[in-house]
Amino acid sequence: MCNCRVETEARLMKAIPEQLPDGHRNLRVSLTGYALMMGEGGAQSRQVMPIAITYEAPNRAGAMKDKKQSMSMMANYCMFCGEKYEKTTDPQ
Ligand SMILES: [Zn+2]
Repeated sequence: MCNCRVETEARLMKAIPEQLPDGHRNLRVSLTGYALMMGEGGAQSRQVMPIAITYEAPNRAGAMKDKKQSMSMMANYCMFCGEKYEKTTDPQ
């Protein structure tokens, strides 16, 4: 498993202060869009793509109502280095 998440966050921690105002403090940088999954080698941080779903559906009275749903799709490869993620077991 690669260390892209940790390494990228460390790079951002060095680069971002240059863009911040003097006197800033308590800087924290965290890449979002990851889910913790159980793999063969233990827990791994794996990238997920959020999916926004919107549609209209009729309510009981037959009037159309806006509906929203969200899901996410798991990546098979690291977007930074291209390494294939190891197989994970679905939490059940
Ligand atoms: Zn990677």
